[in-house]
Amino acid sequence: MAREFITRRKPVVMGVPISRGGGSLLEFPPLFCSPEFRVTIRFAATSRLPTPWAVFDMHGFEDVDAEKEHVVLSLGDVGNGEPVLCRVHSECLTGDALFSLRCDCGAQLEAALQKIAAEGRGVLLYLRQEGRGIGLLNKIRAYKLQDEGADTVEANEQLGFGADMRDYGICKPMLQHLRIRSVKLMTNNPRKVLALQQQGIEVAERIPLQIGRNVHNNKYLTTKAGKLGHMLDHQLES
Ligand SMILES: [Zn+2]
Repeated sequence: MAREFITRRKPVVMGVPISRGGGSLLEFPPLFCSPEFRVTIRFAATSRLPTPWAVFDMHGFEDVDAEKEHVVLSLGDVGNGEPVLCRVHSECLTGDALFSLRCDCGAQLEAALQKIAAEGRGVLLYLRQEGRGIGLLNKIRAYKLQDEGADTVEANEQLGFGADMRDYGICKPMLQHLRIRSVKLMTNNPRKVLALQQQGIEVAERIPLQIGRNVHNNKYLTTKAGKLGHMLDHQLES
């Protein structure tokens, strides 16, 4: 079944000032936006996906324009109109599959699936935009620069990329396919909240997902809080 959505990918979140703990103002860098407004989604199939925490339904989608394949895991009756517990997770091969402690992705992915299983209802959108949208090999190049002293934002910029190249325009058609209009979003990233809202998806609640800070990613997470506006405590977990 092919589904075609004409979704306007607006140039969203252009430098939104926010107030954080100390009262200082931060400017978010603009979200990456495709110049194309057209999002063509092809639904492939739904299967079962047993995990250690629950047996999810796995829905496969193709973003035809971007030539990317995405996955949504769902649990329970998500299309009944009630806000749905939701994680929008961007692919991180190193963190999700290779146990990397350089970031918090693997811990967040696992915690999100556990929370959905505990609630018995929810969705996880797994978006194939590795390395905040710069791709796996460029992420490795950025890691090398970080090994040499750059922070995660400086490394991206030295490679000629924006600090965050992720595009969330794919979320709406996938949520629409599952008849989800309102979510309880598990995220520390206010730009993700705004990106969904600007697509017309109600974010009924933001649920912090602070987990996985360690000695290897402590500086990285502090940079995400300081330069990318993520709402994180600046404390190493004891
Ligand atoms: Zn990661």
